[in-house]
Amino acid sequence: MQRVRYVVLGIDGATWRNLRPWAEAGFLPHLRALMQEGAWGSLRSVIPPVTAPAWVSFMTGKGPGKHGVYDFVKPVDGTLLGFDVISSHDVREPTLWSIAGDQGRKVIVFNVPVTYPPKPVNGLLVGDMLTPSIECDFTYPKEIREELLREVGDYTITINWLEYKKHESRRLLRDLSECLEQRRKTIRFLMQSIDWDLFVGVLTETDRLQHALWNEIEPGVGTQGAGTPREILDFYRQVDDIVGEVRAAAGEGSYLFLISDHGFGPLRRKFHTNNWLIQQGYLRIRPAKQFLLKGVSLCRRAILKLARVLRRSRVPRRSATGPAQRSIAAPWGVMKIMENCVDWRGTRAFARSFTQNGIHINLIDREPNGCVTAGDLPRLRDEILAKLRELTDTAHSETVVEQVFSREELYTGLQSANAPDIIFRTKDGYQTDPFIGGSLFDDANDKSGTGMHTEDGIFLVSGPGIRQGARIAPAHITDVAPTVLYTMGYPAPSDMDGAVIAEAFEASFLSERHPEQVEVEQVSAHSDGTAFTDQESDLLKDRLRGLGYLG
Ligand SMILES: [Zn+2]
Repeated sequence: MQRVRYVVLGIDGATWRNLRPWAEAGFLPHLRALMQEGAWGSLRSVIPPVTAPAWVSFMTGKGPGKHGVYDFVKPVDGTLLGFDVISSHDVREPTLWSIAGDQGRKVIVFNVPVTYPPKPVNGLLVGDMLTPSIECDFTYPKEIREELLREVGDYTITINWLEYKKHESRRLLRDLSECLEQRRKTIRFLMQSIDWDLFVGVLTETDRLQHALWNEIEPGVGTQGAGTPREILDFYRQVDDIVGEVRAAAGEGSYLFLISDHGFGPLRRKFHTNNWLIQQGYLRIRPAKQFLLKGVSLCRRAILKLARVLRRSRVPRRSATGPAQRSIAAPWGVMKIMENCVDWRGTRAFARSFTQNGIHINLIDREPNGCVTAGDLPRLRDEILAKLRELTDTAHSETVVEQVFSREELYTGLQSANAPDIIFRTKDGYQTDPFIGGSLFDDANDKSGTGMHTEDGIFLVSGPGIRQGARIAPAHITDVAPTVLYTMGYPAPSDMDGAVIAEAFEASFLSERHPEQVEVEQVSAHSDGTAFTDQESDLLKDRLRGLGYLG
């Protein structure tokens, strides 16, 4: 009997917005066939839809309140705006592949965000975009690293689209396409290296392209591709080719899941949360530092560039770490300077992170210079929530915030204490950042890209017992792991937030094997701390900036 294999191919940032019309127009033949043979619909991301927490929610079947990953970065204890880059050390919950591996299934995990440094798996693992360099041990087992590099030649960890100038967009496309070819070769190499049962891999190049060139993609949405340059359609066809190749490698009778961590849409405006908090009187600047702050906010990009040049002039050595390494880079940290300008004793609320649309209350006994009592927190929080609902972009005469939440409304679980006190969803087209000083809003420009994440990603499944051509209701990203486990014949752990996407299956299939759960007790899963040396951490922060995730 033919062996049944299971493939989960993640296409970072993929959205039906362009994929559906392009598949229907025949540009993406493999996707079109899969839409006819499988069940598909949208996949809701985490709120806000950030790559790192979204993929961790996929792999664990749990929301950020349980796994504790809210962003690419996490706050450094004892600082207000200091942050560290997250890693696999921050993922302490069982994953889809660890559960399958424990059942004796052979797994391949490829390029799934937040899997570096590699943890042992029952099979093979290649680390992700937060791998400091290919000199590091980014594979499990370690020994396949050299073989992989020999086989694939150049191995690019990620393409930093922000490092390309506007007139270099065709070079960016070529580099992304070259990178996709490396991914294809890597997937081939991995699939040929062991007799596998479950493959979980992510292609991240779609996200990079869409951040940079959504303005060129959008005209072809709803016009069957007309209006979108041919080389962009070719890039998606290359992705489609990989989908076809992976499907063929899995073989007849296998399951194929296509998913994305979030969707995409146009980016129009930037909202600077901390500047709004200053305007509303919740965040105070020390009078003597007003001038300095103005200068820093005006020269922010130049300072970041200088810091990067200084760091690059130092030869990165994996073992070289310690206070001396940090001391050169740290004084140049823009956030550090901004932090020093804030009158923390007079600040009741502030935004800490770059991507999570969150506001923290400056709570006594929690924040280093807290000034709000626990008793005052609910009233203050509700006041800010109410003002956020009214927030208007006067230049465009529209309200900006679609929905606001207190932490308790959005996140449940033992890790929810790490979340901001207030989380808000902006309307499509608005992105936030926490830089202090300057205007409330800015137009999107070359430095911010033309595309941004939205909450509606893609879900598609094909295989035995799947309803053919069924358009199903939106599922949630935490539903994918229980659904994959269900097709493999395993019950989902009861502490997963997601559930089996039953609508995708034939009624007869569901009645033959009813989706089941296995009772597990939720345990507090604390992070193992940082995985990186100071130098690696600086390098990764630069990379996240180059990807548009750190302002
Ligand atoms: Zn993403």
